[in-house]
Amino acid sequence: MTRPTLAFVAPWECSRSVANIPSAPRDDVIVVLLESVAKGTSLPWHRQKLVLILSAMRHFADALTRAGYTVRLENAPSYAEGLARIAQETGARRIVATEAREWDMQEELTRAHALLHAQDVELVLRPDRGFLATREEFATWASGRKEFRMEWFYRDMRRKWNVLMEPDGKPAGGEWNYDAENRKPWPKGRAVPVPFHVEPDEITRALMARVAGWKGRWGSVDSFGLPVTRRDAKAWLERFVVERLGEFGPYEDAILSGEHELLHSSLSSIINVGLLHPLEVVQRAERAYREGVVPIASAEGFIRQILGWREFMRGMYWQLMPGLRTANSLGATLPLPRWFWAPDGEPWGDTDDTDDTDDTDDTDDTGAVGRCEMRCLADSIRQVRDHGRTHHINRLMVQGNFATLLGVDPAELSRWFWAGFTDAYEWVELPNVVGMATWGDGGAIGSKPYVSTGAYIQRMGNHCASCRFDPKRRSGETACPFTMLYWDFLARHRERFVNHPRMAMMVRNLDRIPEPELVQIRREATAFREGLAR
Ligand code: FAD
Ligand code: SF4
Repeated sequence: MTRPTLAFVAPWECSRSVANIPSAPRDDVIVVLLESVAKGTSLPWHRQKLVLILSAMRHFADALTRAGYTVRLENAPSYAEGLARIAQETGARRIVATEAREWDMQEELTRAHALLHAQDVELVLRPDRGFLATREEFATWASGRKEFRMEWFYRDMRRKWNVLMEPDGKPAGGEWNYDAENRKPWPKGRAVPVPFHVEPDEITRALMARVAGWKGRWGSVDSFGLPVTRRDAKAWLERFVVERLGEFGPYEDAILSGEHELLHSSLSSIINVGLLHPLEVVQRAERAYREGVVPIASAEGFIRQILGWREFMRGMYWQLMPGLRTANSLGATLPLPRWFWAPDGEPWGDTDDTDDTDDTDDTDDTGAVGRCEMRCLADSIRQVRDHGRTHHINRLMVQGNFATLLGVDPAELSRWFWAGFTDAYEWVELPNVVGMATWGDGGAIGSKPYVSTGAYIQRMGNHCASCRFDPKRRSGETACPFTMLYWDFLARHRERFVNHPRMAMMVRNLDRIPEPELVQIRREATAFREGLAR
């Protein structure tokens, strides 16, 4: 009998549009999907993220089985050990897998290679089908450049895939980028769209019940409603294009209390787990523009996120790894405030299972620690805790901004984003957190740190009116922590930014603050920092 080939499908390759498997069932190929215990316990993963991945894998395995493939979906101590064991049991001759999408998988595949070599099994790696530029292509684009700017890469990708291009080689509508039109707050009185929701089927409900009981994980499973099948993923995309894409651009930066989705697509969780291919999403948005259904600003703004940012971040991840994991150009060393796990002061981590007999700490008799009084921050973290996601501006200008101003170690913040979001994988969260949000990479990805006072949050959102702090005040009892920490941040990093082309003006504004007030701001910022529970 011929020795079979194993086709290993990573947990983020949950459809035939990205998985490296034969296009039709073959007698000599066994498709292998693995639930790795090591991976599943490596961080306090959000329970909805675990449900999404586990359910998408189950549904994909079932769909392949129905289509005639031989499939093994199994639990294993690690990917490497799982592959070695199944290779031994089946007498496999070789394993075909996709090149690693992130660093941990690269290490697993290296370990698998060594184990398999000893068993006389070949490991063959194929390019990752879930992206629109190969790693080599990006490396070629990046080589020799002094500056990596997403905009230039994005224009090359538009040309390469002929997206939003006219026959004369000019961009559709005459401009490459319509971002300037996309900066509006949510209009007063306008109804908010209900977040999309797919009713969980029996398989998903069973997984939700299982995962709900797992200790050491974060968040609740209750509101889970993401697609876990290709059919539901395609329907989600269609609904987004019809109902929201037309207005996606203008309100892209809006923030609203209790709203984790607004007019965003929530497609990242779906694309990143492999249920949709990025090209089909981009082409669907372009078609809506060509058919006159949506304006160019919205189509271009959305397409830039996927063809531009998503590809650029993945390329930069591989350019900057492994150093990106520990990059910390601003020398930020504070641990993450406890609020990020427990915005309402609820029990978490070390208080999770305790009986609260220690009366020297600041917990009350329910195990609760301090509640976060910053309306915008607490709300954005609750959204993540309860839904496993929130939109871009909450991530960047609320959560990332606050942690950067405070001086939180980017690696700690990165682990929170990685664990807490249903769309988070290291290849995308790390460049966003350490590159874009915290400037830990010193400017390789973003030209300046994304920091702002509370005035930005006041302009784009609706939290400030009911907050106990005042976004305009930078010192005193009611000073907004964003505003106070912003000036403290600039003062701490004055030397670094005084001649920076995009930060120098802010330093000049800092220099206009009277000395006694700056001393007060800095004293209060230190007290605020020291008073935070970790
Ligand atoms: P939409 O606003 O509808 O955008 C459409 C799509 O564009 C997204 O689905 C996504 O695939 C892509 N996209 C947009 N911006 C980016 C970006 N900066 N990087 C990569 N892709 C982008 N995105 C993730 O997919 N996973 C993460 O773990 C992640 N972590 C982030 C952490 C921080 C601190 C920041 C500032 C951003 C992060 N992002 C991450 C990028 C972005 O916030 C999310 O992709 C977006 O909010 C997902 O929601 P959506 O699908 O509704 O996006
Ligand atoms: Fe957030 Fe400051 Fe506004 Fe309060 S006042 S909601 S802390 S920006």
